[in-house]
Amino acid sequence: MKIPALISCVTLLLHPLAMFAQTESTQPGATRIAQWKDDKKSPFMLMFDDACPSQVVNAVPELKKRGMAGTFYNFPAAGHYQGNKAFWETTVPAIPGVAYGNHTISHKGFPTLENAEKEIGDANAVIMRLFPGKSPRLVSYADPGGVKNAISGAQIDAVLAKNNLVRRPEFGGHGGGIAYHTAADVLAAADRGISNGTPEYIIFHGVGGDWLVFPLPEFIQLLDGLEARRNSLWIADTISVHKYETARAKAQVKFKQDGPDQIRVLLTADVNLALYDQPLTLITKVPADWKKCQVTQGTSRATAAIDNGEARYEAVPGTTMIVLTPVR
Ligand SMILES: [Zn+2]
Repeated sequence: MKIPALISCVTLLLHPLAMFAQTESTQPGATRIAQWKDDKKSPFMLMFDDACPSQVVNAVPELKKRGMAGTFYNFPAAGHYQGNKAFWETTVPAIPGVAYGNHTISHKGFPTLENAEKEIGDANAVIMRLFPGKSPRLVSYADPGGVKNAISGAQIDAVLAKNNLVRRPEFGGHGGGIAYHTAADVLAAADRGISNGTPEYIIFHGVGGDWLVFPLPEFIQLLDGLEARRNSLWIADTISVHKYETARAKAQVKFKQDGPDQIRVLLTADVNLALYDQPLTLITKVPADWKKCQVTQGTSRATAAIDNGEARYEAVPGTTMIVLTPVR
């Protein structure tokens, strides 16, 4: 009795996928990967460039009030950044959901490769200091606008890759005060995103002041409108959306129901898991008599609510089995 058990155990270790059979998608155990986090229809990203003073007095307080995520692309050599240094370096990093992107140190373009390495590397060092944690990690990058570079695009790309930087989506067509002037314009874009399941975003400079101004009353109306769409929108920082989208595109899920009281799920993704560490949302059909379920993956344990016969939960891609058991 012991030897076959040992063999089957070894087989299982060597071939963790071998024991899984895909079942009909309506049967208990059937699992799908949500297109976007929490099974929302689409992501929406709020980005803020250049550490404009009006962001200090207008944008950040309104975001904080609503617990809304945003990404700030500061360039720390700016005089107006230095004038609000404590705000940018202490107050803002403590706000949940806020992230910083790399926008170089001085926003002057790159006369030489050495200069690019310093401008980009030093800006990354500031972000790592203000948001300590995992290293290496992916950070969003925004090219400084309106500047000339004396080095090639390929050279810049190589510096970005070396620093684990991912270029954000295009500025063109998405600038506050340029492409978008009213809350209604931006909310129409958000609604298109919801219909199409695709990300939408706006990139601000001035909010109620400074340059490329998006009026404050419109900004408030926009945030209220986004808030009203929170059941459909995943309002997130730029790099989280990139990580989810990339891992999701390369992810696979396998599942198996083991009797009435256990479902096992294996989520894999063909990406560098050290950098693409954003959990993905899974939705698993469970037996009709499960009222809630416990989701265990390695040492992490969570309780998932069951809605319409489905459990929704987060899991990290990799080789660690996810086990669902009922809480009756
Ligand atoms: Zn800029």
